Amino acid sequence: MTTVARTEVLHALSFDVEEYFQVANFRGAFGRDDWDGVPSRLDVGMDRILALLDRRKARATFFWLGWVAERHPALVRRCVDAGHEIASHGYEHLFLQDLGRDRFVEDLARTEAALVAAGAPRPIGFRASTFSLSRSTWWAFDVLVERGYRYDSSVHPVSHPTYGVPDFDPGISRVGAAGGSILEFPVATWRALGRNWPVGGGGYFRLLPLWATRRALASLESDGRPAALYLHPWELDPEQPRVDAPLSARFRHYLNLDRTLPRLEALLERFRFGTMAESLRARGFEV
Ligand SMILES: [Zn+2]
Repeated sequence: MTTVARTEVLHALSFDVEEYFQVANFRGAFGRDDWDGVPSRLDVGMDRILALLDRRKARATFFWLGWVAERHPALVRRCVDAGHEIASHGYEHLFLQDLGRDRFVEDLARTEAALVAAGAPRPIGFRASTFSLSRSTWWAFDVLVERGYRYDSSVHPVSHPTYGVPDFDPGISRVGAAGGSILEFPVATWRALGRNWPVGGGGYFRLLPLWATRRALASLESDGRPAALYLHPWELDPEQPRVDAPLSARFRHYLNLDRTLPRLEALLERFRFGTMAESLRARGFEV
C-alpha cells in the first residue's frame, strides 16, 4: 500500500447551512411561510459532516442562515465547540437583488444576532444566497465592510444564466469598497477550454466524477492556490423526502446524493482542508 504525500496548500472547506426546503431550486414548492411547518432534516446531514470532520481531524467554515441558527442553536454550539468557523449565509436565503441595500443591512444584523445568541463569535465571513453578489449588487461590499466583515465568498467567476461574474479574478483578491476593502475568496473554478468551470461544490461536485474534482484541486495546488469548496448538509442526506418539482430541479437536487460523503472523505484523505479564515491566513492574508 502506498501513502500519498500530503501537500502544503491549505484548501478551504465550507458548508452552507440551510434546509433542503430552502434551496432556490425548490422555491416553487415551498413558500417562505411554509418553512416552519416542514419537519427539519438538518441534524441528519450535520451529524454526518461533524463526524467526518472529527474522524479526519479537519476544520471547516459553516455559513449559517440566521433563520436556521435561531431554530438550532445547539447545532451552532456543536460547530463552535469542535473548533469550526461560524460565518453568515444571510437570514432567510433571499437574493441580494431582491433584498436591496437597506434590507440587506437588517438581514445581516439579524443573522449576526442569531449566531451570537447561539454562542458563536460575531462572524467575519459572508456568502450570499445562490451567488447573488454580481455586478448589479456590488453595493453589498460596502455594507459588508461597514459591518466589519473581513472576507466574502459570494462572487462566482463563471458564466451562468442567473448569477456569476465571468471576468472576475478566480483567485483570492481584495475588493475596494466605500469605507475600506474586503477579501473575496470565490468558490473554486478550473480554467479549461478558455473559460472557468465550476468545480467548487454543490451540484457539480456530485455531477463530475471524483477524478475530475481531484485533478482540478491538484492543478490549483500545483500553482500554490487554495480551492474553496462548498456543500450543504442536505447533500449528505440521501434519505430526505422527495419534493414534487420540475424534472430539471429534481435532477440537480437529487443527483448522486449518496456519493457526497464518500467523495468528500476521499478528498479529505488526499488534500489538506481548513476553515475559510485559516486558508486565507495560510496564504498570508490578514483576517
Ligand atoms: Zn444557500
